[in-house]
Amino acid sequence: SGLISFVLFIILLRTRKEPMTWYLAIALLAEAEWVIMVGIGNIVTEPSLKIMFSKISYWGVYNCVPLFLLFTIHYIGKTNWLTTRKIALFWVVPVIMIVLVSTNEFHHLIWSGFAASPRAGDNILFYFRGPLYWLGVINNYVMLIAIFLMLFWKMMNSLHTIYRRQSLMMLISVLPPWLGNIIYLFNWEPIRGMDFTPLTFSISGLLIFMAIYYYQLLDLTPVARDALFEQIKDAIIILDKENRLVDVNAAGEKLLAANRKQLIGQPASECLASFPALLNYLKSNQDFHFEINLSGLVHSELDVNGTCLYSPNHQDVGRLITFKDVTSLKRAEYTEREGRLLAEALRDVALAVTSTLDISEVLDRLLENVYRVLPCSMTNIVLVDDKGIGRVAHYRGYNDPAVIEWLKNVTFDIDNVYSYHFMDKTGQALIVSDTHAVDYWKIKDGKLRSYLGAPIWVKGKAMGFLNLDHEEVGFYNAEHAERLQAFANLAAIALDNARLFVKVNELATHDGLTGLNNRRHLFTLAANEVQRALRYHTPLSLLILDIDHFKQVNDVYGHQLGDVTLQKVAGLFQTMVRDVDISGRYGGDEFCLLMPGTDGLYAKKAADRILDMVHDLEILTDKGVHHISVSIGMATLSEQDTSFEDLLQHADVALYNAKQNGRDRIEMWKEKTLVNSTLG
Ligand code: GH3
Ligand code: MG
Repeated sequence: SGLISFVLFIILLRTRKEPMTWYLAIALLAEAEWVIMVGIGNIVTEPSLKIMFSKISYWGVYNCVPLFLLFTIHYIGKTNWLTTRKIALFWVVPVIMIVLVSTNEFHHLIWSGFAASPRAGDNILFYFRGPLYWLGVINNYVMLIAIFLMLFWKMMNSLHTIYRRQSLMMLISVLPPWLGNIIYLFNWEPIRGMDFTPLTFSISGLLIFMAIYYYQLLDLTPVARDALFEQIKDAIIILDKENRLVDVNAAGEKLLAANRKQLIGQPASECLASFPALLNYLKSNQDFHFEINLSGLVHSELDVNGTCLYSPNHQDVGRLITFKDVTSLKRAEYTEREGRLLAEALRDVALAVTSTLDISEVLDRLLENVYRVLPCSMTNIVLVDDKGIGRVAHYRGYNDPAVIEWLKNVTFDIDNVYSYHFMDKTGQALIVSDTHAVDYWKIKDGKLRSYLGAPIWVKGKAMGFLNLDHEEVGFYNAEHAERLQAFANLAAIALDNARLFVKVNELATHDGLTGLNNRRHLFTLAANEVQRALRYHTPLSLLILDIDHFKQVNDVYGHQLGDVTLQKVAGLFQTMVRDVDISGRYGGDEFCLLMPGTDGLYAKKAADRILDMVHDLEILTDKGVHHISVSIGMATLSEQDTSFEDLLQHADVALYNAKQNGRDRIEMWKEKTLVNSTLG
């Protein structure tokens, strides 16, 4: 018996390294020591020697039991119970017992006396038990009960047969020593006074040996396996080769909404009926992997993996199926992709806003992006003019030609359209969950139910609106609104930029006081007209007008009134010019009027009209109404002219003549005028 324990000790020592095995190995060594000492004690005949070996055997007894207890605690996976303090406590009674037994002759607390067996020749020494003998017995029994209960618990709670058998084997191995000991303690026959406990340990040793070699005790640590299988968040299902469910973990029970007892033994066609795709895969003998989308109570995405299981001799034994919940992963992926698309679209629009001056092109590109990244059936941009009249400027998603025609021509006062009025006043996006359910929605299109609008808000008022329509009721939410508003804000920047551009352009080309083209711009425009007239041989006339004695106006009435006078003359100019005419302020009190397609005769008529109109101008001063006159020089483009400068020079000469000839008159440039003045 001792040898068996010793051999097991050696085997464990050589093959295993983890603490659990160490405890078992040393427990077996202690057991071997105990059994061998008891054996020798039984062989020797001298009572004092018998007592000495009994004393030595106590080392084995009182170390073996707590070590076995430690091993069991490890085996059932409750190592977190163990602290150094608790381990030390296990040895309190054993140490007392070993010390007391070694010093028994001084106090007789363990053995009060000894007597030889009355039966001749059986070589047995009776030990009379002292008062503290029972301390050790109680200690060992408490520990053995604890070991027994732990192994029993393990056996009942192991999921797998192999682990249940392991635990059972261990449980049985505890019983023989126990029985043997009880026989000894109660002095039962067959041989009174003979301790059978050590002998029974040979049976225990063999049982443990079997647990190790037949049930791979310590190979697969049951704790690790059970913990992994049970606590893993993925659902795991194991099917045998007939596709019957043989095992399922806790997550699997939840997925299949049934408990293990109900599920085990069920055919896949029954327990996995809610996964038709999976059943299809089970028909073939191959590993598989696919994703499914469960949209039940809780929407979820599952990643399903099937692996064929083979026995060591390559026989198909069944299949392991795992279901990994990838919902949050998918959702994160989706949100990330959506966010990226939105960012790209906004960047594209922002690029257009900063690089393109053509507002129409910018808004078109903006709408294109809105249509692409925001879910909608149709979308459009409404632009509002200074008078608060809205027009659909751009649109996407409309198919019906009649609707498109209507869209192109419709105008509306935004104050009369509740949704626009609301956005204009609040600067906030508007969500209408069901356009059929609100009174203010005037045009109830049969299909369109959800509406989302965002104001293109510039400096406290809406310059336009971005509109989205959807066929689903209650489709749009705050997040959609936020996204549409981001586009609307870019549109606002674009519109504001365009407005600013117009303003800057105006400043660069127009005279600030009179609003007429400034000299530089006048020259640019005029140069084009001259080239055109020369190319197409069309008439072109130029008038230069200079206010007579304008200095006096300034001097008598002040500069401010001088300015007013200039504005009045300019205003008069503007009322009489045709679209094709180009007017401009040439200098201080000098104005130009270039008239394409107009010959000298017509130009003269125009000049006459101007002269008359100037006479009629009333300039109100604090000294009464003041009247002014102007002198006009006229020239018509001739074949010899090559540029605007030529024409201008001629008109200038004519103006000079008009001033010379008494002012308040029109002079026309003629070839001989030039000759005369050159000669003169
Ligand atoms: P003439 O009949 O010979 O043209 O006499 P005139 O006094 O009009 O003389 P001229 O055309 O040479 O004088 C132009 C004056 O216009 C000179 C300047 O003080 C005045 N002037 C030029 N620009 C402005 C302006 O922007 N505002 C005002 N108030 N006066 C201006
Ligand atoms: Mg003048």
